[in-house]
Amino acid sequence: MTHSVLTALGLTELESGTYLGGGEWSTTGGAGLVESVSPTDGQVLARVNATTQAEYETIVERAQAAFKVWRQTPAPRRGEAIRLCADALRTHKDALGSLVALEMGKSKPEGDGEVQEMIDIGEFAVGLSRQLYGLTMHSERPGHRMYEQWHPIGLVGIISAFNFPVAVWAWNSFVAAVCGDISIWKPSPKTPLSAIASMKICNEALKAGGFPDIFFLFNDAGNELAQRFVDDKRVPLISFTGSTKVGRHVGECVARRMGRSLLELGGNNAIIVDPSADLNLAIPAIVFGAVGTAGQRCTTTRRLFVHESIYDEVLGKLKTAYKQVEGKIGDPTDAANLMGPLNSQDAVKGYLDAIARAKAQGGTIETGGEAIDRPGNFVLPAIVTGLTNDAEVVQTETFAPILYVMKYSTLEEAIELQNAVPQGLSSSIFTTNLKNAEQFLTAWGSDCGIANVNIGTSGAEIGGAFGGEKETGGGRESGSDAWKAYMRRQTNTINYSDSMPLAQGIKFDL
Ligand code: NAD
Repeated sequence: MTHSVLTALGLTELESGTYLGGGEWSTTGGAGLVESVSPTDGQVLARVNATTQAEYETIVERAQAAFKVWRQTPAPRRGEAIRLCADALRTHKDALGSLVALEMGKSKPEGDGEVQEMIDIGEFAVGLSRQLYGLTMHSERPGHRMYEQWHPIGLVGIISAFNFPVAVWAWNSFVAAVCGDISIWKPSPKTPLSAIASMKICNEALKAGGFPDIFFLFNDAGNELAQRFVDDKRVPLISFTGSTKVGRHVGECVARRMGRSLLELGGNNAIIVDPSADLNLAIPAIVFGAVGTAGQRCTTTRRLFVHESIYDEVLGKLKTAYKQVEGKIGDPTDAANLMGPLNSQDAVKGYLDAIARAKAQGGTIETGGEAIDRPGNFVLPAIVTGLTNDAEVVQTETFAPILYVMKYSTLEEAIELQNAVPQGLSSSIFTTNLKNAEQFLTAWGSDCGIANVNIGTSGAEIGGAFGGEKETGGGRESGSDAWKAYMRRQTNTINYSDSMPLAQGIKFDL
């Protein structure tokens, strides 16, 4: 029987994973099936027909044709299209938020929050559609004018991870759309239904508003089409969100063909708690950061550096809070639960393997560290002490709720340790000491793309540019001027004089 959450969104047990444009979803099979499996009980929610090579070709050709029209549409009019998408998502927020919870496994409030993020970035993009500003420069030559303008880049390829199955698409495609681009999305094979539902909601809103196709979708049963996508010269920008391992490969492939890539990869985020910290703020932030989404956020708090003078107190409070969370682990669609399952059995294996490695490397499991004996992919959130920052397991992003707690004695030492990992996504300090807060934010402070004071590492707002340094990939998405990644810059110099002076005073007299 079709799950009621699917029915609410008009989804059936066999779905097409291919939006070909013109209101047409593929009806052919033959490229394999992608199974959407509930992480809560292991049941298959629905099967999705993957995209064929021929269908992929149709999508790219239609997207190229769509771009010719869309790039001539005034940007504020493009903003109107995205306003309609945001409105439609508002209408379907409850149902889509439930589907995200059901299929990905995050809690219902977090699923709803993810859809809210889509709405928020939609509204941001509407405003942006009137603010795609270029600069005007003073020419060194008389009778000349010089300025820069931003043109759409063309087709934007979006490859997304399972843990933010809908918001990452909206961050990219809504901003790309107001920039004048057409986007093609390849979602994670673990969350195809959330992608299909988002695509249907937005494409129906666009059609009802009289807008042409700007969003396309394909699903890949393996990685063959994804690889073709990454190598496809007709797609000038690939925006990739996922693991550092796959992202490194994608970045290399795109660079080889001189394309552009925007990489949003793994994190290994830390919080520093200094002796002046307000623990009434710090404890809930650490627990949400480490346990929220069952540790499956790129910004999840994975390392905690606590000043030696308050170490025992902080560890004690955390262990008490973790016991409270343990009583609220369960069905993620039940809004009363704080933590759902991991997304897959592979993730459970990864968690157990990391716990075993932590023990082997000298760590002590303070709480958790086991899978829960019930159907689905449930584990207990773990706190590990006794390891140093350079331990192999601490240096690695394990996509699960494991928090490594370590002591420090000086702020310089804490900052050095927090920076001493390959990744550079998110970081925080809890302090009431202004000097310490400012030290943390200096050029010799945190080396991450995100550095916070008195809030945790996760839960970024859409208004800022999101992304990180080092092996996190260097890309920036969402707010601020991240839109520039989706456009090409053109510098224009216009001579309105009667002479032909050369720059740098060069003489070339004929
Ligand atoms: P993953 O790397 O396994 O998969 C990501 C995507 O890449 C999927 O759509 C997958 O099908 C696709 N893929 C796999 N092989 C490919 C290939 N050869 N060519 C092209 N695409 C290919 O990641 P995941 O397990 O889905 O997500 C978890 C990871 O994503 C974590 O490391 C997390 O930190 C990271 N993440 C980062 C951010 C960020 O903004 N920095 C956000 C969310 C998730």
